[in-house]
Amino acid sequence: MRIGIIGTGVAGSLLAEGLQGFDVTAFERVAPGDQAESGTGLNIGPNALKALRLHMPARHAALRAASLPWQRWFVDLADGTRLFDLDMLAVAEEPGVRIRWSELYRLLREPLAGFTRHGHALEALEEDAAGRLVPVFRTADGLRRDGGFDLLVGADGRYSRLRALAAGEPPATLLGVCIWRLLVTDAADCPYDDYGQWFNGNARLLSFRVPGGAVYIAGTFPLPADERIPEAMKTGVAQRALFTPKTGAPCAAVAWMLAKIDQHVAQIHWARSAVVPVLRHALDGRALFLGDAAQAMVPTLGQGATQAVECGVVAARVLRAGGDAAAVAAARDSRVAFVRDFSMAASDTLLPPADVVAGTRRKMQPEFLNRLRQLYTEVD
Ligand SMILES: Cc1cc2nc3c(=O)[nH]c(=O)nc-3n(C[C@H](O)[C@H](O)[C@H](O)COP(=O)(O)OP(=O)(O)OC[C@H]3O[C@@H](n4cnc5c(N)ncnc54)[C@H](O)[C@@H]3O)c2cc1C
Repeated sequence: MRIGIIGTGVAGSLLAEGLQGFDVTAFERVAPGDQAESGTGLNIGPNALKALRLHMPARHAALRAASLPWQRWFVDLADGTRLFDLDMLAVAEEPGVRIRWSELYRLLREPLAGFTRHGHALEALEEDAAGRLVPVFRTADGLRRDGGFDLLVGADGRYSRLRALAAGEPPATLLGVCIWRLLVTDAADCPYDDYGQWFNGNARLLSFRVPGGAVYIAGTFPLPADERIPEAMKTGVAQRALFTPKTGAPCAAVAWMLAKIDQHVAQIHWARSAVVPVLRHALDGRALFLGDAAQAMVPTLGQGATQAVECGVVAARVLRAGGDAAAVAAARDSRVAFVRDFSMAASDTLLPPADVVAGTRRKMQPEFLNRLRQLYTEVD
């Protein structure tokens, strides 16, 4: 069976590595070493680490070596009042990780050097006489074809071109929050280390250190679902007003972040949080979707890349054993439905009129912690 993988981000790289020895070609839009689209940091959940530990131990070791452990998760109000404090090992079998995007892509793409065609952006889809899919790529030298594939895997992210070509553009549902992210590299004096969240009303800062002396900061604030992000909100002054508590005295961590936002506001990446319906395969199983291409979800529990890891690991296992796109769906879809529903439910405190104090304290109760344990450990 000839397999083509579109996109070597998180899911595509792991699938390609897991299928080594099979007739596999990976196609990636960016040039080798070009991480222009991956400028910030992220946290990857313990469930992804477990999947790698069980099935791809070399990648598990590489990820651990390039990252810091995500061992603790705390939630404060912007004045420093503590609402939630969790030792990750209370609900997981190993810590998650904190890493820079550029490092994550580098270490996942490392094993693929021999069989990735870089500078190939999927543009169109044709079919050969045998009914195999023929992807058409835009390259620096014009349009290129590489023959027919029995299976094409769309691992090309949230705006998947393969999904659009095979099944139409998916409708996006906006969550009603703006989300922005920033990587601060002049961070030697940062007063915190592991994963923290700080609420002021329903607006929330999230931050942690990543390797190389940098700090990742992400902010969210409510935004009517049908509205664009107002330019007036994209300033240091507006963000300071949003995250300064009524007392006028932010805690040391929030004060530090506000100073960095002022300094680096031009580098902030702004987006609106959205989900699209899950689609695992199309075109009678000749097109399979993994990661964000199949299941873009809200980032509240940090499960986007984490689920893309699970997708890559599981799909490699199923396809290696001779399974098809329907078998990958059977192995993934109920798990993904659980994670999407849980991520959405956990977003409650980001949206008015939710009471942040009561909603966050509820997350220290057994009902939430048991779901978190299921999320982090129910990985085969
Ligand atoms: C603000 C924000 C914060 C986030 N924070 C976290 C977090 O802390 N933890 C977490 O787990 N997740 C996080 N996520 C989610 C995470 O970014 C995605 O879920 C994850 O990257 C999906 O992985 P993927 O492999 O599906 O796609 P991607 O990693 O997006 O990879 C897609 C690949 O396909 C390539 N490609 C795209 N189009 C084409 C084409 N036409 N032809 C060829 N190649 C193509 C791209 O260059 C890329 O290499 C966050 C997302 C956002 C927006």
